[in-house]
Amino acid sequence: MSHSTVSIDQASFRNSFAEELRGDTAADLRPRQVPGYHYSHVSPTPVRDPHLLAWSEELADFLGLTRPPERGPAVEVLAGNRQAPGMQPVAARYGGHQFGSWAGQLGDGRAISLGELMALDGSSWEVQLKGAGPTPYSRRADGRAVLRSSVREFLCSEAMYHLSVPTTRALSLVGTGDEVVRDMFYSGNPLPEPGAIVARVAPSFVRFGSFQILTATGEIDNLRELADYVIRHHYPELGAPSPAVYLSWFAEICRRTAVMVAHWQTVGFVHGVMNTDNMSILGLTIDYGPYGWLEPYDPDWTPNTTDFGQRRYAFGQQPRVALWNLMMLAQALVPLVGSADELTPVLNSYAGIYTSTYRTLLFRKLGLTPHPDDLPLLSALPDALTAAEADMTLFFRGLSYVAPMLLENGAMEEQALQDLLEAATYTAPGSPAHEPLRQWLGQYVARLRQETAAPAAIREQMLRANPKYVLRNYLAQQAIEAAETGDLSLLNNLQHVLRTPYDEHPEHEDLAAKRPEWASTKPGSATLSCSS
Ligand code: AMP
Ligand code: MG
Repeated sequence: MSHSTVSIDQASFRNSFAEELRGDTAADLRPRQVPGYHYSHVSPTPVRDPHLLAWSEELADFLGLTRPPERGPAVEVLAGNRQAPGMQPVAARYGGHQFGSWAGQLGDGRAISLGELMALDGSSWEVQLKGAGPTPYSRRADGRAVLRSSVREFLCSEAMYHLSVPTTRALSLVGTGDEVVRDMFYSGNPLPEPGAIVARVAPSFVRFGSFQILTATGEIDNLRELADYVIRHHYPELGAPSPAVYLSWFAEICRRTAVMVAHWQTVGFVHGVMNTDNMSILGLTIDYGPYGWLEPYDPDWTPNTTDFGQRRYAFGQQPRVALWNLMMLAQALVPLVGSADELTPVLNSYAGIYTSTYRTLLFRKLGLTPHPDDLPLLSALPDALTAAEADMTLFFRGLSYVAPMLLENGAMEEQALQDLLEAATYTAPGSPAHEPLRQWLGQYVARLRQETAAPAAIREQMLRANPKYVLRNYLAQQAIEAAETGDLSLLNNLQHVLRTPYDEHPEHEDLAAKRPEWASTKPGSATLSCSS
């Protein structure tokens, strides 16, 4: 624990976003267009019985916040029932392309930003309540969030952080004591569910769509003001805004987005709704909705039932969808740089950065010193994993033990690789579907023998690159079902192992287990919708 921590209801909030940008002050929560403004002043709508369900200890320490008791003033702030001194809550205005079509104004329909807190290192962090009640951007919805989607955002965003994936964070999960009605699969079966609120945290929640809406409505002064705000606060190293700086800023957004997606592709994360309103201007994974983790490796897989027809946001599409989204952002930034011609070469840099980052991460996972001669070996792996229906996490983790062992004791090779294939795939033992991966493993082991590092050193490095624990879809669903009955033990255990995902936790071996067969079709595990 750090020394000078404070309860969040006593914390000093700053409001740079609210103070430096133009805000709509009409005290009118009815759904409406808000032209001319970056955000609306709103107050969260109180809930019946706010109580703390989960808390991120190390994020809180970093922000200088004390863990609150289950009920009381701090949890009331985290539920929107109370405001700390100096807070100026706002809902941001943004637009976006949803599933490839321009959707016009969207905005924070249920997220309300409380302001910014200064962390112990002096950095600034926006705190936002998701599910805090209606705003002018709620359109036809209620401004609330259900426990199931809140548990998913809380656990997954923190898990991603501990896997070194650029992401927004989550500080707290609060039950509201209110019911929220949702039709989970849009199938005409609305049911009451427990409501919840996540306090999520990021340097900023500005999105690609925050810029798009301004260009779409011809608010070029506002466009420049928002860009200048973001550069001033979040890209200060680029210097004072100018057309040249806007270009280098866009280059940095492209770079960060490429790095983020390269991480997704090497951990097996599928975002599920990569609409441009869900793309962070800081290159962070944002808006955890119907996301999922690959079980059998499959470029065509998406958990999002809303996308089953098109599969626009399937695992293997993510790198190119991110580029498409960057193209949409580029179009929105044209008024700042003068012409699209300047932005095109920058966009063209995305593919190279994505590929080199992906390869670097993959080399690390394989314990190999990068070498251009190895590119065929790298490129052959996804097809082999797909054919064998390999569980990516189990495969790489298993390989971290097996491969260095073979360097020490080659005689066991056949059996060891056989065991790995059986432990880490969803296909039947001895299946011909294993053949491409078996052949790949033969080539890989031969290549690994050329490494000069000691096998033990290779193993240590691989174990640091290949997590044992990721938020498996069925485990998240089991944690939700237990939490809905008041049992938080699985949620707590998942939070615990996901905090140190590269370590062994012998008492939680079950939380690293292959997906059981029953979970392959279970709604909430294998399939999700945007209803949250
Ligand atoms: P999403 O695809 O979940 O990122 O949401 C798209 C848009 O719908 C955003 O503008 C959200 O703020 C809004 N939205 C989603 N759920 C709700 C809700 N329950 N109440 C109000 N607005 C919502
Ligand atoms: Mg969103």
